[in-house]
Order: sequence, then structure tokens, then C-alpha cells
Amino acid sequence: MKPQIWFLTGSQGLYGQDTLDQVADQSQQIQRTLAGGLEAELVWRPVLTSSSAIKQVMLEANADPSCLGVIAWMHTFSPAKMWITGLDALRKPLLHLHTQLNESLPWESIDMDFMNLNQAAHGDREFGFVQARLGVARKTVAGHASDPAVVARINQWARAAAGVLHLRNLKLARFGDNMRDVAVTEGDKVEAELRFGVSVNTYGVNDLVELVDATGEDEVDALVGQYADAYELAPELAKGGDRHDSLRYSARIEAGLRRFLTEGGFGAFTTNFEDLGGLRQLPGMAVQRLMADGYGFGGEGDWKTSALLATIKAMVPGGPTSFMEDYTYHFGPGEPKILGAHMLEVCPSIAVARPRAEIHPLGIGNREDPVRLVFDAAPGPAVVIGLTDMGDRFRMVANEIEVTAPDEPLPRLPVARAVWKPKPSLSTSAECWLTAGGPHHTVLSGAVDSATLRDFATMLETELLLIDSTTSTDAFADRIRWNAAYYRLSRSL
Ligand code: MN
Repeated sequence: MKPQIWFLTGSQGLYGQDTLDQVADQSQQIQRTLAGGLEAELVWRPVLTSSSAIKQVMLEANADPSCLGVIAWMHTFSPAKMWITGLDALRKPLLHLHTQLNESLPWESIDMDFMNLNQAAHGDREFGFVQARLGVARKTVAGHASDPAVVARINQWARAAAGVLHLRNLKLARFGDNMRDVAVTEGDKVEAELRFGVSVNTYGVNDLVELVDATGEDEVDALVGQYADAYELAPELAKGGDRHDSLRYSARIEAGLRRFLTEGGFGAFTTNFEDLGGLRQLPGMAVQRLMADGYGFGGEGDWKTSALLATIKAMVPGGPTSFMEDYTYHFGPGEPKILGAHMLEVCPSIAVARPRAEIHPLGIGNREDPVRLVFDAAPGPAVVIGLTDMGDRFRMVANEIEVTAPDEPLPRLPVARAVWKPKPSLSTSAECWLTAGGPHHTVLSGAVDSATLRDFATMLETELLLIDSTTSTDAFADRIRWNAAYYRLSRSL
């Protein structure tokens, strides 16, 4: 089922059927112009000229599981009172496209007929008023349909909408609760389900262990074969190696986890190294491979980051997006940088080269040595984003970053990692992140940009504090104070 965006055109009957036929024809031309550059399918819908038809199409959009959201454009002068009940009923993301068919004014031939037909400059202002009057969450994009910047901005919005659709239907399984005494991974699961749609429930880890133990040898053989094809196996893990059995047990965990998630319809999960029940290894490579297939994951019971990861992965399926944790700093010499990693669980979708499967001791978890994939993250622009629960609302904090190669090889570091320069600088980024109360667990993505994150936050009507190249610590602290007032004042009782 290819995701769809519905293209809605507003008009009215004042100028007669001939004009409405021209409106429909021009609207289809715009739909065709845009469709070529869009990642989602752009579906043209018949021109709307009445309140009942507008409400009907909005209710259909709400109910259609393949519909990511709707784009609305007012071709002629379209009195916007007819949009009130429809906009009020709409539960899918909305983009207001402000455009017109002709790119240039026909200076010499223009007459009043042309003016009456091509007056989106007028009709879209009427529509903008009604959206503002109703307080409708939306993105507004102005420009000609042939402009690549217009297409790019619609694609950013559509990716955010794909994430929202995924999040609205997401089921998340937690194996164990939070890591004991940790604050930031706590949160209100009832509010999360109301605001985001994600359903979060906990299962005993031994429910998973049953499936791990019941996995057949043939299934383990098949997975081990896949590992040999996809990764550079440490000799001790390869067939005939001293520790091949550890690789086989890791495969068993993967098979059991996949079965549990598939049978339960889960798109995300968490683990907790303090609650491993009968598992012989902390799940490492299994988690990494599931993330690569689009599953959300959070360590230490962190369901908020897990849900966010599944969501951002759904925005660009197969894109470079991983669970991440700020670990340690390089203050210099050279440009300051952050080294991010996790105990084991970094997604190979961000790897710069073929990952190596290795086995090393792990000081925590009190289990056998876990198998993990080790690699460096691919250099390039990216974002990190975290989700916290501030008590009266959820808050997202994001930072534009540049992933770089490590300054030097890291031969003794037995985990996958990313090195990055945060914008505008390490000190400003860290000061802002700490002032905002941003979490240590994040999602790192080179697949989406901060514009998409903004659209995403708008769709969810959730606070986003973005740290980018223009951010200063003082202005950022002021924004946090203003936001606190805004979110308290705007909240209904
Ligand atoms: Mn962690």
C-alpha cells in the first residue's frame, strides 16, 4: 500500500460551470507537475464547492489508512466558511499549498476573465484566515509547483506525516521496566497514547526467553548464514571458531525477538540489562539487526526513545537512523566533538562500511559475553532528537550535527559509535541541551532534517526546541521560558 497524499482544490459556483471545469483542469495540471517529484503518491480529488463535500472528504481522509495527509489549495476565490466543519473534523496532517497555475503574468493578454479564474492570491488568504481562526495545525508552502524548493518542502512534510501515521498505530513491547533510579526514561504512558497514539505495555522477559529457547536449529543455521554474508565475522565467531556457539545463541535471541514482535504486532521494544531473566546474553546484535529492519528500540526500558526511533525510521524507510547515546567528549585539540555510542545497540543503517561481528566481555548485565556489530558511523549532516516528559507536556529537543570520521582509529573500543560536531558548537549545544533538560538517549538520523522535525512537532502539537547554527545560549533559555508560558496558557482545562 503506497502512502498517499490527497490534493484538495477549493472553489465555488459564482462564475459558472465553465469556470469550474477550467479549475478542475488546472488543478489536475498542478497535481501532475507536483506528483513527479513527490515520494508519496499525490491523489487528485474532485474540486470542492460545498461544506458537505468538504466535510465528507475530510472524514474519508481520516478513515483511509493509506492517506498520510491532505494538501489544500484555493484556486478561485473560495469563501472559507464552507471549510470550517471539514477542517474541524480533519485528524490527518494538513498542508496549505499557496500556488497558481501560471508562473508568469500574461502582461499583454490579461483581462478580467483571467483575473477571476486565477485568484488564489486572494482565495488562499481567505483560507489562511479560517485556518488561523480555527487554530488548525498546518504547514503553509508558497510558490510555483515547478519550483524544486516547493517540492522539497512538501516532501519534508510528507515524511513527517508518514512518521505520525506510524506512531498513531504503533504498539511497543517493554521487556522489563526502567533502569532503576533513572529519571529521564520515566514518563506518562497514558498521555503518550492520547497525544501520540503509541500503546506501551510491559512483558515478562521470560515470555521472550521461551521463544528464544524454542527456536529450531535450522532457523539458527539460516540466520548464521545471513550473518556470514552481511558482516565480517571475527574468526572466533565463525563456523569452527572457539566461540561460534555464542553467535548461534545471538541468532536464537534474534529469532525469538522477531517471533515475539511479529506475533504481537509490535513495531518497537525496549530491553533492560537489570532484568534479563533466563537470557544468556544481553541482546546486542539481535537488537541492531531489528533496528535495521525498522523496529524502534530503547535501552534501559526507554520506551519514549524507542517510539521516536520507530517513528523517524518510518519517515524514510531504510534510511540511516539509529538509537544513540551521548557518551563522552573531545574538547580538543582541533574542533570539539561528541562521541556517541551505546553498550551494544547502535543500528548498522548508519555504518560507513561493512560491520564486524565481534564478541567481548561486558561489565554489566551479569551474563555471558554478548555478540555485537562494531563500526563507525558514516560522515555527513544529521540530526539528533530526544523526547522527554516535563510533567505537564512532552518536549522534543533536537540538534543539527555533522557526523565526522573519528580523528584517529579506535582499535580498543568494542562497540559501534558515531563522532559528531554539534551546531553551533559543542559548548553552546551542550549548554542548550542541558538547559532544556534533553535526554542522554536520542535518535540520530541522517535521513531526515530539522525542517521535517519541525513539521512533525507541529502535527503532534508538541514542543520542539531546536539547536542549530543560529542558536545562542541566552536566546535559547529565553525561548524555554516563553514556551513554558505558552504551553501552560494554551492547554485546555
Ligand atoms: Mn543507555
